[in-house]
Amino acid sequence: MSGLAERLAAVDAQIADAARAAGRDAGEITRIVVTKFHPAALVRELHGLGVVDVGENRQQELVAKAEELAPLGLRWHFIGQLQTKKARAVRRVASAVHSVDRDRLVDALEAAAEPGESPLDVLVQINLTDDPARGGVAPDGIEALAERIAAAPSLALRGVMAVAPLGEAPAAAFERLAGYAARVRSVEPHATWISAGMSADLVEAIACGATHLRIGSAITGPRDARG
Ligand SMILES: *Cc1c(COP(=O)(O)O)cnc(C)c1O
Repeated sequence: MSGLAERLAAVDAQIADAARAAGRDAGEITRIVVTKFHPAALVRELHGLGVVDVGENRQQELVAKAEELAPLGLRWHFIGQLQTKKARAVRRVASAVHSVDRDRLVDALEAAAEPGESPLDVLVQINLTDDPARGGVAPDGIEALAERIAAAPSLALRGVMAVAPLGEAPAAAFERLAGYAARVRSVEPHATWISAGMSADLVEAIACGATHLRIGSAITGPRDARG
């Protein structure tokens, strides 16, 4: 096996073990491979290993790779901070946008819908830190943002997304996230996705109910410092 195949298999085994330990079915967990800063050739190799869900955090890189690899039929998840003026370009190629954190972005994604286009899956990104500069809506704004998404005909509210803060045990942060996820479900009962868990904290995320993991370096290998 190549290094990539070995790392992918090792992560999948870790996911299976963590699911078993949590009394969960690993089949209900989607493993998204975050390919940011890696070339399209690596994404092609992942596709050859059976990967279907891939994640990117920068609009330009997402669009370039998604266009180059369009024939592969991958599902592209956008997980980065998104400027409203880039909403249209992201909507054209993404299956899901995990990082919806403000009304203006909801409106921009809604306005970018083409007539007859199927709804775009979106998640409310929640800021688990006290630092407003981090991406995500503050917890006291969750319901209002969820309601705005639920009222947008071309958007499908799927759930919540968050990144565990530095300097706090991820399990504690993900426990809070599970409570926020329930608040979003009080607005939209079908919004059952919890996008949480990266290379370093996927076990804790699974224990707290994550349905979508965003795994980068543990699978792709190291990327440069920008990531
Ligand atoms: C880069 C990134 C990931 C993956 O991080 P790793 O530590 O490489 O697994 C997950 N989520 C977001 C939002 C990211 O930007």
